[in-house]
Amino acid sequence: MRPLSELSPGEARGLRGVLFDLDDTLLSHGRLTLPAYEALWSLHDAGLLLVAVTGRPSGWGEVLARQWPVAGFVTENGAVAFRREGRGVARLDACPDDARRARRIRLARLVEDVRGRVPEARLTDDVDLRRSDVTWDVGERVALPEDRVAAVVRAIEEAGARWSRSSVHLHATFDPDDKASGALRYCARELGLEAGAATTTLAFVGDSGNDAACFAAFRTTFGVANVRASLGRLTVPPRYVAPRAMGEGFADVARAILERRVTA
Ligand SMILES: [Mg+2]
Repeated sequence: MRPLSELSPGEARGLRGVLFDLDDTLLSHGRLTLPAYEALWSLHDAGLLLVAVTGRPSGWGEVLARQWPVAGFVTENGAVAFRREGRGVARLDACPDDARRARRIRLARLVEDVRGRVPEARLTDDVDLRRSDVTWDVGERVALPEDRVAAVVRAIEEAGARWSRSSVHLHATFDPDDKASGALRYCARELGLEAGAATTTLAFVGDSGNDAACFAAFRTTFGVANVRASLGRLTVPPRYVAPRAMGEGFADVARAILERRVTA
């Protein structure tokens, strides 16, 4: 990883937008701080397209895509997205309704299986807002011991589901997407940017293991300083690292991009 100060004016000027993770990237321990929100608006006011790419529920995306200065929200690690439409939003789910219903029934069975095998594993408090996945709390409100996390992972794998892990949640899904495939589908269908254009003209900012696919897919990638704790889970680290952590690190990234675009 290179320090953020090495971002060149040419690379900053070539950007059309910024994709960003929420937890421990834009949000600091779950809170949206004033510097982070101002940074978001400053990127928007400079004409950059903004798209959140998060493991958080589709219910969050449906609300926040209406309120924040973003073009869209990709939620549930790529499975379900929202675009602004007038004063409302449109939901974009690549899975047809009948297949979605069948997957939700299988997820409900998995939840019951885990309840029997790892009774101390708690579902997250945002699970009812989810459409394509279920999530257990591994570090948000409780710290689940690693051997118990491994037991939940075993149950997920035995059910034939996929799992991924953020700094706070363990996800199980029968959907094929990851953050990068979901983000690239959104960029192609909603922004008219095919993969080659999207990965070279959109930056990505993230912090943890479930950002791995985006760090690998996009050319201009930034980690907030706390990404260092997750480097063991990243096959490709972010290209640049911010001096500060979480929301303050996001503000560092925004300032670096905007200053170089002005002075270039
Ligand atoms: Mg994160």
